[in-house]
Amino acid sequence: MARENEQIVYGTRSDITAGGFFFACHPGVSCFTKCCRNPDMYLYPYDMIRLKHRLDMDSDAFLEKYTYTAVRDNPYFPHVMLKMAESAQKPCPFLTPQGCAVYEARPFSCRAYPVEPALSRDGRSGNADRFYIVRHPYCRGHEQDRYHTAAQWISDQGLGPFIEHNRRWAAVDTLLRQNNWGDQGMAHPGAKMVFMAGYNMDRFRAFVFNSSFLNRFALDDDRLRAIEIRDTDLMHLGFDWIEFMLAGTGPLAECRKK
Ligand code: SF4
Ligand code: SF4
Repeated sequence: MARENEQIVYGTRSDITAGGFFFACHPGVSCFTKCCRNPDMYLYPYDMIRLKHRLDMDSDAFLEKYTYTAVRDNPYFPHVMLKMAESAQKPCPFLTPQGCAVYEARPFSCRAYPVEPALSRDGRSGNADRFYIVRHPYCRGHEQDRYHTAAQWISDQGLGPFIEHNRRWAAVDTLLRQNNWGDQGMAHPGAKMVFMAGYNMDRFRAFVFNSSFLNRFALDDDRLRAIEIRDTDLMHLGFDWIEFMLAGTGPLAECRKK
């Protein structure tokens, strides 16, 4: 979660492993759930999949109820953000008096804090072993005496698949930082297709199986079965398709039918 005045301490995996860091978050800290009020929360494609399954909602309903889009550091493609409740202090819609109601499906930003993996822009190389420690100034968790290494934290918080999927999305996001659609911007049909392939797995699945997509791209039987039943596999097909559309590269180009 990005907040104003947050302090970012730079480190590498070995630095953190060698020196470790102290942190604990539990109902006993005086700031408990403070970070769940009015956070500026980015949702990544894999976050959306985890949350919509946890809430047993389809993509359209989830996007409508829990998200909004905002243009941030990329002027050419909006980010999807978690919509806060309208009540005082703008709490996260999943915040309850007992804590997070979607804890096992909580988004990457909630899950990773205070460790922030560096994601390389090409999604494939560099920075894979580099991490930051983020400190929100109001967060008392850093004063606790529980010691962690980055590797332990990543394992304990189940961050592995989030990092893997987000790394690939970072490469797609780099392509989306070009002016791909000229003056039409997000009104361009291509932009709407890209948004669907990144964020709306139910519509994308219907598109793949009910359009000429499978005539144009040859997918082997294992991949076909996987995208039929698993949103994460479909999401990676979406990433491949976006890369093919915007750059003409990637694994989907290699298996295109002649
Ligand atoms: S998803 Fe859960 S942990 Fe994250 S801000 Fe909302 S209530 Fe807090
Ligand atoms: S310790 Fe930090 S992460 Fe935990 S509730 Fe408090 S502000 Fe949030």
